[in-house]
Amino acid sequence: MLQRKFDRVVKNYFPNAMDAKDTSIHYLGQMQIEHKIDISKVLMATSVCSDDINVPSTTFFNVLFGPFIMGGLGGLPFAGQTGMTAFAHHIPDEGSAFIFYGPHIGITLEGDLGKMYRPRQEQTGNSCGALMLALSRFQDSGYKPLLNEGDYQQMKLEESLLPYRDRILNDDNPEKAITEVTYEVIHQKIHDHLKSCKNEFHVEKVTLLGGIIINTDYGLDDYFDVRNFEVTDVKGL
Ligand SMILES: [Zn+2]
Repeated sequence: MLQRKFDRVVKNYFPNAMDAKDTSIHYLGQMQIEHKIDISKVLMATSVCSDDINVPSTTFFNVLFGPFIMGGLGGLPFAGQTGMTAFAHHIPDEGSAFIFYGPHIGITLEGDLGKMYRPRQEQTGNSCGALMLALSRFQDSGYKPLLNEGDYQQMKLEESLLPYRDRILNDDNPEKAITEVTYEVIHQKIHDHLKSCKNEFHVEKVTLLGGIIINTDYGLDDYFDVRNFEVTDVKGL
């Protein structure tokens, strides 16, 4: 019942979003049937935000090995080229690689984006906390980039998003806009790292599934808005 109400609210903002569990089953099926991938030999990497709320979103794929965790705050692949290289070296013999990536955004039944009710909390909290913090800082006309090695990931996240500040602030829905921009940044970085590390892969096929994770209330299924599904020949990059 509650799930059905969420369905309406989520689809208002993300018309193509699907239940995250259904999504994972759908794409695992495509990997097996259309792309002839033996999913018993697939190592998964994730580039999603560190937030505890996302852990269930990555266990949807619990038939795969892993995950190798590439992501940090906001979902950016902070493990970088060294992480991509290590991931490539860990793939089973004659196996294949799968990378699941993207930012996340909370939603409430009242339709508030960027917020969610967390387990055992009365009040809503921000989701993604790192992105909503970056947004509130960008909204300050006197914004100055963070220079704090003690807050390295947030500093780098804001640095990556800063070129898109006007686009985000001029949008009717800046919470959604900053999430969309973050998706594009993660997508680009994953492809850059794959390309620069392509010779480290001893397999041909790398499957990528990217999109936006939409967090609903605790105990209910999350949604996933798929933006990219591709099976690439990594050597051809
Ligand atoms: Zn987050």
